[in-house]
Amino acid sequence: MAAIDDLPPLREVISAHGLSARKALGQNFLLDLNLTAKIARQASDLAGSDVFEIGPGPGGLTRGLLAEGARHVLAIEKDARCLPALAEISARYPGRLTVIEGDALQIDPLAHLTPPIRVAANLPYNVGTELLVRWLTPSVWPPFWESLTLMFQREVAQRIVAEPGSKAYGRLALLAQWRSDARIVMDLPPQAFTPPPKVSSAVVHLTALPEPRFPADAQVLQRITAAAFNQRRKMLRASLKGLAPDIEDRLKAVGIAPTDRAEQIPLEQFCALARELA
Ligand code: SAM
Repeated sequence: MAAIDDLPPLREVISAHGLSARKALGQNFLLDLNLTAKIARQASDLAGSDVFEIGPGPGGLTRGLLAEGARHVLAIEKDARCLPALAEISARYPGRLTVIEGDALQIDPLAHLTPPIRVAANLPYNVGTELLVRWLTPSVWPPFWESLTLMFQREVAQRIVAEPGSKAYGRLALLAQWRSDARIVMDLPPQAFTPPPKVSSAVVHLTALPEPRFPADAQVLQRITAAAFNQRRKMLRASLKGLAPDIEDRLKAVGIAPTDRAEQIPLEQFCALARELA
């Protein structure tokens, strides 16, 4: 397959800069540039967007994003050892790559990027879910991003796209699906990474909805789903008892049987209950 750019292969970059993978930083690198270009293409309309990349590491996905035409990439990396390798990519794509050394949990991407903004990342697993929840719960909606194209452990990816009635269905599915269209776009075996992690991975693509899918107050919905899924085996009349003294009547008013359990209830009904209890 043709090379995506004229920079050195990632194995050479890693050995030239001494980037032995550190477990504490969640470092499992993608070294196949055709694969990273393929992941980058899932982000769609790169040429018309700025891209916020978390944890570029030696720059595999960064190179994919740039080769696929991203207008401008802001990459934030915690590991200072990676900065010289990333500087070489900046030099190859003048004016299109800004690298910041720091923690993704601390940065405001709007200070550096111009909308429309897409987020793309092979996330460190330890911060992945925290960042996703944060991106899905900003103080105002729509959020700063048009889409998120993110690598997760496959089990987490399944929780994001889960349907009612499945074991994976819970708060993450409800939150993601209330505010975005979410789908799994790629599956990756452990061997796609160096070093290979213990589990399989998947890329999830989430497109922000202009407005949440069904009307509901975010905090009320959050309280209901927290109570319902913290005791997911219990009937809703028991798990939601603390939310209203007449919870059985309220459930019936929105067409939910008080004996139902949380994992049977679709998003639309949770939103109806949130409006009923607001
Ligand atoms: N994107 C590269 C790739 O696909 O090969 C590296 C992916 S590796 C799974 C995760 C990267 O995130 C590492 O380079 C790690 O140093 C970086 N990282 C870990 N925690 C971070 C944080 N809080 N903020 C920014 N980067 C972080």
